[in-house]
Amino acid sequence: MIDLLANLQPIVLIIMLILMYCIENMHPYLVPAPNKKKHYARNFTISLVSLLLNAVLGTLVVMIVELTAKNHWGLLNQIHLPLTVQLLSGILLFDLGSYLTHNLQHKIPFLWRFHRIHHSDNHLNVSSSLRFHPVDVIVSQFIYQCIGVILIGLPITAFVIYGSIAVPLLIMQHSNVRFPRKLERFANLIFATPGWHKIHHSSEQKETDSHYGDVFTFWDRIFGTWGKKQPHEIEYGLTEFNEDIHHRVGHLMVSPFKKST
Ligand SMILES: [Zn+2]
Repeated sequence: MIDLLANLQPIVLIIMLILMYCIENMHPYLVPAPNKKKHYARNFTISLVSLLLNAVLGTLVVMIVELTAKNHWGLLNQIHLPLTVQLLSGILLFDLGSYLTHNLQHKIPFLWRFHRIHHSDNHLNVSSSLRFHPVDVIVSQFIYQCIGVILIGLPITAFVIYGSIAVPLLIMQHSNVRFPRKLERFANLIFATPGWHKIHHSSEQKETDSHYGDVFTFWDRIFGTWGKKQPHEIEYGLTEFNEDIHHRVGHLMVSPFKKST
């Protein structure tokens, strides 16, 4: 069952990308990018690199998960818990670690230079979901996943379940699709819904530095890093990336290494 769930993840990712692309083009929620084709082309080019990199690094993370189980590393392998409690604790702790890492991506200037490529998009749509600089993928996401898995002692089942929730959620969070407000209000008591996550892409720094949670909203609620705003009231992107040239693929790739934007 878990093997099937793990094998389905890449298929679910592709289906979600196509589904959200179709819906956002038939019924866009927010004002679309002025030159939609160019916007999609640029973002999907970066996404392709992200996807390939994630495929390679994902295999390494799975190896770390297996090694962790085999050698009984990490917290959850030191204490005896009923299986359900162990899985739930693993999923929650892994998301907490991701929340803390995401904080560091915003607070440490070196990490922010790479992570801001994801934030610089001023027209969110499905193609924004995987607009990550390769260094951001390696330094923050991959390294965190390796450390998180080992420290927590994350069981493979918890790792697969977490990924199966996180992947479709990531695509929905960035899509230019309107989800029913009542559903958003109810679901965001637990999950980082699309409306909840979009606040993280606001150009206002106070809002950019909030809503860090990838899957759950508990950590933002506990640490007070959240607020209320509707997606259509938000101005997206970063003020320093306000010209078309700033969004060229080449520019986005080299800008973290330059002193100016
Ligand atoms: Zn961020």
